[in-house]
Amino acid sequence: MSADEKTIAIVGAGQAGGWAAQTLRSEGFGGRIVLIGDEAHRPYERPPLSKSVLAGEALPEMTRLQKPEAFDALELDWRPLASATRIDRAAKQLHLANGDVVGYDKLILCTGGRARRLGIPGAELPGVFTLRNLDDAAALGAALVPGRRLLIVGGGWIGLEVAATARRKGLDVTVVEAMQRLCERTVPPEISAYLLRLHASNGVLVELGMGIERLAQTQGGAGLIATLVDGRTLACDAVLAGIGLVPNDELAREAGLQCEGGVMVDSQCLTSDPDILAAGDVAVWHCERAGRRMRLESWQNAQEQGIAAARSALGIAVNHQPLPWFWSDQYGINLQIFGMPAPEHLAVVRGDMQGDSFVVFFLDAGKVVAALGPNAARDLRFARRLIERGTTVDAGQLADLQVPLSKI
Ligand code: ADP
Repeated sequence: MSADEKTIAIVGAGQAGGWAAQTLRSEGFGGRIVLIGDEAHRPYERPPLSKSVLAGEALPEMTRLQKPEAFDALELDWRPLASATRIDRAAKQLHLANGDVVGYDKLILCTGGRARRLGIPGAELPGVFTLRNLDDAAALGAALVPGRRLLIVGGGWIGLEVAATARRKGLDVTVVEAMQRLCERTVPPEISAYLLRLHASNGVLVELGMGIERLAQTQGGAGLIATLVDGRTLACDAVLAGIGLVPNDELAREAGLQCEGGVMVDSQCLTSDPDILAAGDVAVWHCERAGRRMRLESWQNAQEQGIAAARSALGIAVNHQPLPWFWSDQYGINLQIFGMPAPEHLAVVRGDMQGDSFVVFFLDAGKVVAALGPNAARDLRFARRLIERGTTVDAGQLADLQVPLSKI
């Protein structure tokens, strides 16, 4: 069979799926590409959903991965509002909820994840939101009315970005975080402290080491009453649960593919079935830099792994080992993280951590392995090079503002 008669099916029309489809074409694949997505929307990028789109400052169309003409030019067999329910690996067929059956030569799973829900009484009441997709952003955005009270459960990235957006819109905001510090999963304690100061100085009330036990409607039903685990009650108008992502790996698991908190792939994006690949938020792979298996929930990984999976599906050799890069925008501050800071790294601070711009470098055996900081894009570009080159550096020089990073 010639390549032009082959079918590559992609499940999940998010950022990874969208990039996979585009890459198949840019690499010259002339066969059939079936792109299956359970949303009504064409592939879009998620970062603005907690920021400009949520604030009502950007139209949902602004998030699109491809302009409509460019998307049409890909000549995909695009199946919106369609969900895949079963993979028949023996027959190499994908079954959809609407009864359709799609045969494939290669299958790329870009199913991402869904927002974890609060497993407490009242979690499904009106006024309780999660934020993962465009429709969620529209629903939550409509509830961000100036003067209202928003309770955010979870002091991770979603929670903090929504807090910043809601404050800008003039809401009263309380963040309840179960751990003893903000963004514990992804940043070291110094940065958690910085984030806490940032939010406190912008009028957000942050409760650390705190959970929420139940939610109830007020009499009359216009508002909500949250009962915290310490027994206090808090009245609010809306609740956002920003408590993490659940990978959508059921389809793969039920097909007998190796899964462990996501679909396991190698650095060629191959699952335990050589005709099935996975990419993006749902994929677990061994990150050489971190020295462990992980999922990487980031804009960069969705794009790069989506591209890598498409190339790999076409038989092109790939080795997906990105230098993790992550950013967040809050109150006009742009925080960026390169690499994976870990407790065993030596932290070297350049600049004043009480200020609005500084860099923290993380050294392992004299080499910079990670760096992060607010409003420090230029310095972080140098830091990135140091990480990529694996240069041995002098910690004193890194910390010395008199020594330009370009000279290190
Ligand atoms: P997200 O992408 O949703 O922001 P993160 O993992 O970055 O995901 O952050 C989720 C945050 O929610 C973590 O800081 C975690 O400790 C916190 N969290 C999880 N469950 C609860 C809970 N029941 N109550 C309060 N905080 C929670």
